[in-house]
Amino acid sequence: MAEMSSELQSLYQELVIDHSKRPRNFRKMEDSTLHADGYNPLCGDRVSIFLKMDGDKVADASFQGAGCAISTSSASLLTEALKGKTRAEAEAIFDNVHKLVTEGAAVDPAKLGKLAVFSGVSKYPARVKCASLAWHTMKAALEGGQKVSTE
Ligand code: ZN
Repeated sequence: MAEMSSELQSLYQELVIDHSKRPRNFRKMEDSTLHADGYNPLCGDRVSIFLKMDGDKVADASFQGAGCAISTSSASLLTEALKGKTRAEAEAIFDNVHKLVTEGAAVDPAKLGKLAVFSGVSKYPARVKCASLAWHTMKAALEGGQKVSTE
């Protein structure tokens, strides 16, 4: 646990801890139009992403699941980031976040807003899949909804 705590300190702990303890949009969406389930077997994280599309726009986004602080906070921040975005904008955010968590500072943090919190994740390879799980699951939902695994 001590190790986890120092990891989180490097990961802009306040925002991550806040979103893991009080996840936003944490609910099953009964009237979702797109939905996918994701699983990260390395850590045991599970996340279901629900999207309600209004034409080309994400009218609502929510998630459910159980996982570590990083996967939960990542999913929580994802649902906040997606609302009101078009499908193309959501995919662009996915690309930027994916680059950010795998390559670190390769992305301009100004483009990502709060999501830049995960820039430190690239230093912890075991955590990359925790941070990216919700995003891969969101992408699967946009593409028609399937079960995804990070393996
Ligand atoms: Zn995890």
